[in-house]
Amino acid sequence: MTVIDTQELVKRYRTGGQTLDALAGIDFAIEPGEFVSIMGPSGSGKTTLLNILGLLATPTEGKVVLDGTDVTGLNDRKRTTLRKQTIGFVFQHFYLLPTLTAVENVKVPRLLNDDPGLTNRARKLLERLGLGDRLDHRPDELSGGQKQRVAIARSLINSPKLVLADEPSGALDSDTGRQILDEFKRIADQDNVAIVAVTHDELVNEYVDRTVHLVDGTIGQEGKNGR
Ligand code: ADP
Ligand code: MG
Repeated sequence: MTVIDTQELVKRYRTGGQTLDALAGIDFAIEPGEFVSIMGPSGSGKTTLLNILGLLATPTEGKVVLDGTDVTGLNDRKRTTLRKQTIGFVFQHFYLLPTLTAVENVKVPRLLNDDPGLTNRARKLLERLGLGDRLDHRPDELSGGQKQRVAIARSLINSPKLVLADEPSGALDSDTGRQILDEFKRIADQDNVAIVAVTHDELVNEYVDRTVHLVDGTIGQEGKNGR
């Protein structure tokens, strides 16, 4: 089943008597196991689109279907529940909690409903991301790449169907960025998770299945990577 599907998304902002269509009719869909990048100049609507895909914002017009559920008319509480069950987030600046260890940071999305298996699951995710010897380290004891691996492990703690990443390699040098992109690709392939990465980084296009180009809130030509 298509993981997320949008139809004719419009996001309109009104400021000081002016209106601006930040998104002007976006049809976007992603299948399980696909790794897709969204590229476009500053102001083209990337963050707006990512926020709507993540159920963090609602469109002015159009429809969003997440994992078979039309979420367009859902109230905040239902959207939040669905978001937690279905979507993981990775950010440019990691957003780890400085006083928590790697394992504890990975557990954060689940702290309100801890369960006996959770610590083990967090450890396994970190081991899988190559951090088996950093489980009890705090963020200031980790490199940038290691911090982003912790953030990726955290995004997977609820077994999401969709991972949304905002400039995931933006704060990393290119070698470390490549390692992080390799991790995303592996997760998409092995776990059948759909991954959307918003980026300025041309490097990302070597790893993704396809690239969506945003220009002034509309989708331009779509590059398909032969794979
Ligand atoms: P990008 O992430 O590609 O830089 P954004 O999605 O942040 O683009 O913004 C798209 C357009 O919408 C920009 O012109 C921006 O100024 C405008 N915009 C974004 N958020 C708001 C807001 N809350 N109110 C008014 N205009 C906004
Ligand atoms: Mg942005």
